[in-house]
Amino acid sequence: MISPPMPRRVALISVHTSPLAQPGTGDAGGMNVYVWQTATRLARRGVEVEIFTRATSSADAPVVPAAPGVTVRNVVAGPFEGLDKRDLPAQLCAFTSGVLRVEAMHKPGYYDLIHSHYWLSGQVGWLARDRWGVPLVHTAHTLAAVKNAFLAKGDTAEPMLRVIGEQQVVDESDRMVVNTETEAYELVSMYNADRSLIDVVNPGADLEIYSPGSRSLARAELGLADDEIVLTFVGRIQPLKAPDVLLSAAAPIIERSRTQGRKVRVLVVGGPSGTGLAQPTALIDLTAELGISDAVTFLPPQPSDRLAQVYRASDVVAVPSYSESFGLVAIEAQACGTPVVAADVGGLSVAVADGHSGVLVDGHDVEDWTAALDGLLATPGRLAALAGNARNHAEQFSWEHSASRLLACYSDAMTSFAARNPGSIAAASVRRSARPWRRHRTRV
Ligand code: UDP
Repeated sequence: MISPPMPRRVALISVHTSPLAQPGTGDAGGMNVYVWQTATRLARRGVEVEIFTRATSSADAPVVPAAPGVTVRNVVAGPFEGLDKRDLPAQLCAFTSGVLRVEAMHKPGYYDLIHSHYWLSGQVGWLARDRWGVPLVHTAHTLAAVKNAFLAKGDTAEPMLRVIGEQQVVDESDRMVVNTETEAYELVSMYNADRSLIDVVNPGADLEIYSPGSRSLARAELGLADDEIVLTFVGRIQPLKAPDVLLSAAAPIIERSRTQGRKVRVLVVGGPSGTGLAQPTALIDLTAELGISDAVTFLPPQPSDRLAQVYRASDVVAVPSYSESFGLVAIEAQACGTPVVAADVGGLSVAVADGHSGVLVDGHDVEDWTAALDGLLATPGRLAALAGNARNHAEQFSWEHSASRLLACYSDAMTSFAARNPGSIAAASVRRSARPWRRHRTRV
């Protein structure tokens, strides 16, 4: 029996955001977490991972040994600071040149595979793939056509330039990784992708950091009262994430609670991202307009251990996004034993088990959201039942599982690339790693 090929070294490309950045603000979010979590887990399984990202500070060392087996390479391409994500396409040539130079310092065949994240990285990966003769695996993370089809109130449509760029990457990738079956369908129906080249790999949560714990302790740490009902939003503050929907939906509940002698608080955790109506300052204005300023607490982006306390302190975490390729926040909250009320869009319908670990709401009508939240708060037994199921549901989504699925995808990509390009470096690498099973086992 022949063992499936496994890459010795992967070039992982994440142009627009570094896995070392604090997620929850600017361009840093779920993709950063995804890249970091999968890279460290692949490295633990013996795959060396080199992550190429754009240097955004003169203090960034060109090479950062970030974890055992994981190196971050900060490539200089354009000014360190103040460059908007929309201006990055003009820097792709410089970035690609930086990537190719690193590889040129090594013997041919240094990288066995390229995995690009987001379409900008796909553009780089496509050229490097042709140059190095190794397969390109691509993860889009979000798709412009999907975002435009479900555009949030006050948001600006993604430009045609991005749609075209994404299409090119879809056409050029050897394999593609998506978060859910819904995303696979979107790639096929909107970008005419070949379904047989798509692997569904659910993302996960760090189930050790995000675990149930004492609600009272968490509240004490965050300065929240024990007797308040806490409804929480976590994420980058931008129109797509719709924190304004939660605030508007919570307003009548807060208003009523005042006459009922109970307290309801909304916690908004995260920093500004992009432009638009849902900027933190606009949200602060909205709370004033709604007359709920005293019942809303804003917190800046939190590191993961502190974020776990935020989830534990919350009665409900709301994810009202207009589109979401998965929604890590939803899984993390449930992993801490907190039920989630989420919009029934994209990956959220997989991340939340409707009626079991949370509630899915159709659309963004504020009255529907008020009714969904009210419904839960009025039936503590139901809320407790959802909380009781939340951790179990989240446990299906671990980064270890994601890493296993990625390795299988890499293996398929290497095998089919080698078959199509028998004279390539990748084919030689596949032959080398394709050892008889028994010999491999004896060696282990
Ligand atoms: N996050 C964080 N601190 C914060 C807010 C968010 O670390 O204050 C992380 C959060 O843990 C999650 C990620 O940012 O892993 C957001 O991922 P999600 O898929 O929910 O949204 P995205 O940013 O990809 O749109």
